[in-house]
Amino acid sequence: MRHWSDTRTAALLVASLAVLSFAQDRTTEQGEAQITDPNQECAPYFYAPSSNAINSFPPIWTVATLLASDTAGQAKWNSISASIPTDIQPKGQPNGSTIGVTYDTVNDPDCWWTIRQCTTPKRSGIPSDIASIPEPKTMGYAFDDGPNCSHNAFYDFLASQNQKATMFYIGSNVMDWPLEAQRAVADGHEIGAHTWSHRYMTALSSQDAFAELWYTMQAIKLVTGVTPTSWRPPFGDVDDRIRAIAAGLGLETIIWKYDSNDWRNGVNGITPADVDADYGYFISNSTSGTFNTVGGIMLTHELNNYTMSEAIKFYPQLQSAFSHIVPIGVALNKTQPYVETNYSLPSFSQYVGGTTATNGSSSSGGSSSSGSGTSTASSSTASSSSGGSGSSGSSKSNGAAIAVAGVTPVLVAGAALLIASLAL
Ligand SMILES: [Zn+2]
Repeated sequence: MRHWSDTRTAALLVASLAVLSFAQDRTTEQGEAQITDPNQECAPYFYAPSSNAINSFPPIWTVATLLASDTAGQAKWNSISASIPTDIQPKGQPNGSTIGVTYDTVNDPDCWWTIRQCTTPKRSGIPSDIASIPEPKTMGYAFDDGPNCSHNAFYDFLASQNQKATMFYIGSNVMDWPLEAQRAVADGHEIGAHTWSHRYMTALSSQDAFAELWYTMQAIKLVTGVTPTSWRPPFGDVDDRIRAIAAGLGLETIIWKYDSNDWRNGVNGITPADVDADYGYFISNSTSGTFNTVGGIMLTHELNNYTMSEAIKFYPQLQSAFSHIVPIGVALNKTQPYVETNYSLPSFSQYVGGTTATNGSSSSGGSSSSGSGTSTASSSTASSSSGGSGSSGSSKSNGAAIAVAGVTPVLVAGAALLIASLAL
């Protein structure tokens, strides 16, 4: 009797799981993209390529360290470490505290953006940050902190407008939400790196800062098949030491001159009205001619539903205020945004002429994190497929659902305010 009961219970369980899996397909990018219930969207899931590779990466949401077993990472570090300035020491704490830091804020010898928004390095041989874009009356459109598990409504909106953007992804989020990262590539957005654990980079040792970027690049490669060539420092916190590390990894540093402060909503008294005013300030600058010769970049986020709803709310006004809204790479005519050469963005003239789709396809199937994805070029629409074995070997059964997700990061919002109120 007991045996029968257990069997029946098991059968019911299987049946209910079957219904559940029919209702929400969490095995493919296409299936995930169709989930609209935020509660379902943010349920952790197993995805073999990334879930099985977690031992090839630092623990998520902790400051990355270069793994002793990572021979490719060790080799890359060894190849660039000599190019990193040794006369710049880490500053403050990874949470943004600068208590006890002494720094010449008048002369700003390290071109520390956090202090004076410096974007032109004081050391030679280091590329300048990109804080504006060359195309007039144009907005470089970018969102930080994704992939967010509940971004489908926002990405659906962008798709409905045939609007592409640059998504600066956090490596830990990519490991948590790999199918959501794939959606960005499938939708034709450009992906850049936004570090592994979203700490203040200038506070980290050079090797840890390297690891923050390196493992973010590897995570994006693992789940999307492409390796970014741009990054954005969390909180804008970059100096010549960190710039040199990024340059050694082939990453352009993308910054901004305007901040929507959407990420600060609810922090230190910042209200939705304040955020609306900051959007309005950027828009009024455009209508008054500020961007008539050089286009603008404003800091906005995929951080939560509020920041994404703000982006949707202000999109019509941005469209009216600017002649063009384009991904950062498109604004820079950077038609090859990834290490992999089988994938290209439209040029600026192509994009504003109506050709907004990306070219090429990517596949992460089976390749190691340092290999190039196999390619089958398609005419106009990018596709991304994954499901390969990843860097740690063949897939195991989905039955052992190792939930690598479920941790909602508490970003160190407000810490930048702390810096602003200290040492200046
Ligand atoms: Zn961020």
